[in-house]
Amino acid sequence: MSNEDQQLEPGQIEPPAGEIRFLFLAERDLFARRAERFRLLASGHSLADYLGFLALLADAQQEALDRFPSLPPPTPEEQSLCREHGMPLLAARSWRRNPAWREGLALILRRMAGAEVPAAAREAAAGLLATAECRLDDLADKILAGDQAAVPPPELPFVAAALQAYWVHMATALGEHAFARLEAGGVCPVCGSAPASGIVHANGSKQGLRYLSCSLCATQWHMVRLKCSSCEATEGIGYYSLEGTNGAVKAESCPDCNAYLKLLYLEKDGRMEATADDLATLALDMLMAEAGKVRGGPNLFLHPGGEVEEA
Ligand SMILES: [Zn+2]
Ligand SMILES: [Zn+2]
Repeated sequence: MSNEDQQLEPGQIEPPAGEIRFLFLAERDLFARRAERFRLLASGHSLADYLGFLALLADAQQEALDRFPSLPPPTPEEQSLCREHGMPLLAARSWRRNPAWREGLALILRRMAGAEVPAAAREAAAGLLATAECRLDDLADKILAGDQAAVPPPELPFVAAALQAYWVHMATALGEHAFARLEAGGVCPVCGSAPASGIVHANGSKQGLRYLSCSLCATQWHMVRLKCSSCEATEGIGYYSLEGTNGAVKAESCPDCNAYLKLLYLEKDGRMEATADDLATLALDMLMAEAGKVRGGPNLFLHPGGEVEEA
């Protein structure tokens, strides 16, 4: 693992904040593109089976997203209350989800129970298909509250996948204009979740800008570079990458709060995707953990206590 010098000073390259589009919602083909990325990453990877499983899961998420009916948005009263208090409109922890999220889950589970995946995953999917609705909602609440550790490891990816598809559906149905900047720059302006990773863009109006990518709804929101996404400190930020790689993925690490977040540099590889490339670079997480650092945001497919088996 190598530590590299900071590459720019705050404000040195970036245009004034007023000229920067602060938010991009996920596209409606997010999961199809993610599945494609997982497949590409799986080839020749030591975690090939795991990444292949996640590709099939992303296919199922896309199908669930495509089939969601239109659902009632937050009421005008809820919307103005959120604006007034600077709260995210589709807050993961407090906004009441529509029971339709479980229909998305059921579709994902039916696909995965019949897919060519490890027997343990098929059994977990079949088990969840027969699980009472109140327990499914309880599992969802735990994930949305950031307590992934309380969910049995084989069940976590399925429930997390359904919640992602549902939140992308609701966010894209409302549209970008419904969401406003929050005071806390490190959480998603749509749902209040922490980012899974950050992306430094390479093209167009976003060139050189860093956007954080939501672990739940995949919204990208702007945050200046050289700033810790967890505590917003700007001093002493360090960058770490795996030796022998081209530096397309670096961990941005904060000495103040000890958190790190991966940054994907699209100029090095424009095909990278926030969730998929995060999971394909778990070796970097292991090195950061050995150095006593903790992730600044979750990847919902990663069980905090779980091991990922190498092929
Ligand atoms: Zn979000
Ligand atoms: Zn920090």
